[in-house]
Amino acid sequence: MVDFTFARAAVAHTYGDNGNVSVDPVVLLKLMFLLFHENVRSERELVRRLPERLDWLWFLGYSLDDEAPNHSVLSKARARWGGELFEELFVRTVQQCVEAGLVDGTKVHLDGSLVDADASRDSVVKADAATIARIRAAYGAQERKLDETKPPSARCETNLKLVSTTDPDAPCVSKGPSSGTARPRYKHHRMVDDRCGVITAVATTAGDVSEASQVAPLVTQHEANTGEEIAALVGDRGYGTVETYCDLIARGVRPHMSPMQPAGHKSDGLFTKDDFRYDETDDVYVCPVGQRLKPRRFHERRQMTDYVADKKVCAQCPLRAECTKSKTGRSVARHWREEELEVGLAFARLPEAQADRRRRRHLMEGSFAHAANHYHFKRARWRRLWRQQIQDWIIAAVQNIARLCGTTGAEVTATRPNRPPQDVAAAQRPRFFARIGANGARIDRFPQFLDSTVAARAA
Ligand code: SF4
Repeated sequence: MVDFTFARAAVAHTYGDNGNVSVDPVVLLKLMFLLFHENVRSERELVRRLPERLDWLWFLGYSLDDEAPNHSVLSKARARWGGELFEELFVRTVQQCVEAGLVDGTKVHLDGSLVDADASRDSVVKADAATIARIRAAYGAQERKLDETKPPSARCETNLKLVSTTDPDAPCVSKGPSSGTARPRYKHHRMVDDRCGVITAVATTAGDVSEASQVAPLVTQHEANTGEEIAALVGDRGYGTVETYCDLIARGVRPHMSPMQPAGHKSDGLFTKDDFRYDETDDVYVCPVGQRLKPRRFHERRQMTDYVADKKVCAQCPLRAECTKSKTGRSVARHWREEELEVGLAFARLPEAQADRRRRRHLMEGSFAHAANHYHFKRARWRRLWRQQIQDWIIAAVQNIARLCGTTGAEVTATRPNRPPQDVAAAQRPRFFARIGANGARIDRFPQFLDSTVAARAA
């Protein structure tokens, strides 16, 4: 079902036209495919077992008398080809799934997972940031001397005082505050389509890169790979940053992430931000007793403005105990993109979004578990970020091909739970838009979400 012959033309420019005859790139690509599909321990083992496996020989187009290539040809081919060929293999599997009707394209799920680098914790050196930077620079210079075509190393944003001398691209990170010690790791980000769990976009970063930073690149990649525009994106709380909400709304995508706590005063019995009405005309907030909170403090880094009430007025207010514990006047923080944020948060609270988040747990965890149980997903086979990216592309391609052939395991069950949430959501939408309108958001600035009925009711 999969055509590997495109590899021949795709990497032709990396070979010379005289000298020894090379191993056919199609055979090498198929061997790398087998390495993951059959979960073989190493490339040496793969080549050693090749003469014993008639099915592998048939797949490669070899006869019983053909000599297997040397295992070192595989690593040389990866260095010679770079990552583009493997990306193309992955993109082709996505497009085949689209043609087979396995991809809806409008609703996607997003998650990331840490992958152990092929480096031990003993390889990690601790020093001051300047020394670590010099060690990294020395590694980079040495690599450029060996091969100028190598992609640049990953930049570690955190842990500037640690470096693994085995794989300097993989920063030391732990899986969470209570989940073991830190070790060199990469992070795999993937986007999975809602209909059948086809992987439509993949990214690999250093382990300390936040998941939210990969939303925009993955959305772009998904739309390029499938030719479909995303209407709803489902993610966990890790994706729920203000920037993510606002950027998705600006792109016309409904964020179905776990709702974040809006900025401003939190619970503990005091009035929340929802108890204050924003007056767009005068750019003030109006408190429950009708006093006006004016913009006073501007936070460039947080992109927020604090609206503050007159402290003399608050001191005499009968509702002061329910409003603030501050000795100065009550303040309310407003993000500079508050209107988009309010719309995004309202989408995240819809019943449809809650149902999508329940489905996401089953779909994403199933996708990662399938990769971990069958395709050596949780540990890097090779060192350096560009090689880890190749591993992730091959695993994603293998999973999509398994989906295409209908040979995946339990997580194949593509049907939704019995209770379809869409009807419930449709019933809730007018109420949501009315609430957003009352809260001050200009919903008419987001025509991509409005149909005529909803717009009329909200107005
Ligand atoms: S304490 Fe100040 S801000 Fe709060 S309700 Fe009273 S006057 Fe309004």
